Amino acid sequence: MKAERILVVEDEDDIVELIQFTLHREGFESEVVQKGDEALARAESMEPDLILLDLMLPGKNGHQICSDLRAHPRLAQTPVIMLTARSEEKEMIQGLESGADDYVTKPFSPKLLCARIRAVIRRRRREEDGGAHPVASGRIQRGPVEIDPNRHRATLNGKALELTYTEFHLLALLAGRPGWVFSRYQIVDSIRGEGYPVTKRSVDVQVVGLRKKLGESARLIETVRGVGYRFAEEVEETD
Ligand code: CA
Repeated sequence: MKAERILVVEDEDDIVELIQFTLHREGFESEVVQKGDEALARAESMEPDLILLDLMLPGKNGHQICSDLRAHPRLAQTPVIMLTARSEEKEMIQGLESGADDYVTKPFSPKLLCARIRAVIRRRRREEDGGAHPVASGRIQRGPVEIDPNRHRATLNGKALELTYTEFHLLALLAGRPGWVFSRYQIVDSIRGEGYPVTKRSVDVQVVGLRKKLGESARLIETVRGVGYRFAEEVEETD
């Protein structure tokens, strides 16, 4: 099997060293760029399978690079994992909103980093295999939960769930991309797009309501501290 190629955009030497050592040991190939304003050009020439992107970089910061990537015709689909400091909650959220697929907080364990890389690549592959728009394309089955967006119906273990309009959309949004973290803003944005008023705070209220209705399956809706919510990923992998 061809080794996955990772572009590492990180300016701190010791972190670069740790990442490269880890990636090599785990069978990844990697290239490193230490200046923000060189990242896009290198991504263009390398066409990596995934980009590890530090936030604070000389030249251009991680958000700008991520936005550039997302607007790039050939690189828009390249998965990006942001590397952020633990204290940078606001930055994590911005990172997700500028188009990052996931983030890892520093200091990180090499094992966790590789697990995240594999998860993000796997997710992207699955999307390329046709699951990119599950909400639009038909029913979503995640463990005990089944969602039929066309009929606006959701069931739990075959029993109809009585969801409000917003709860239904929240569930469909999260379950449509299990394992993906959605910030409150992204959730608001997505549901507001349907013409309904939702605020960031009311997202939390909706989640409480949704979890209540999911009963024992409430754990499927995971809280990602300081960032937002996601639908548990393991469910899908067992089916
Ligand atoms: Ca840095």
